[in-house]
Amino acid sequence: MSPRRREAGNWSLIGLLVGVAIILVLVVIFVGPGTKVFGGAGSTEGPPPRKDGVGETVIGRSKAAAEDVVCRDQLRQIRMALTMRGPDEQATSISELRLDPKFSNCPFGDPYQLDATAQTVTCPHPGHEKY
Ligand SMILES: [Zn+2]
Repeated sequence: MSPRRREAGNWSLIGLLVGVAIILVLVVIFVGPGTKVFGGAGSTEGPPPRKDGVGETVIGRSKAAAEDVVCRDQLRQIRMALTMRGPDEQATSISELRLDPKFSNCPFGDPYQLDATAQTVTCPHPGHEKY
């Protein structure tokens, strides 16, 4: 009988090391050396800090950027709900719009502010004024 042959699906040690090296090269290319990925010491270079000071790490900044998008989308949907009301049924609070309760707050926790006379809604969170 021939010696036991390795089955086709097994990984060799060299293949594993090459895979790890490729992943490390990609991390260095996309994240950059000295960047705070998971916290800890890093260089002070990089994008300017956010207005709200949220997200010191790359992952934290990514999460904050995703929450910015959620806030912008929630404001868009609240404005759409305000637009669909007739001129004689002006909303005095966001809860009157009968949206999901999550639409009453920004993802960062700040409650949205409804201007009842102008029928506009804004987010008071720093950096979200322009949404
Ligand atoms: Zn917001």
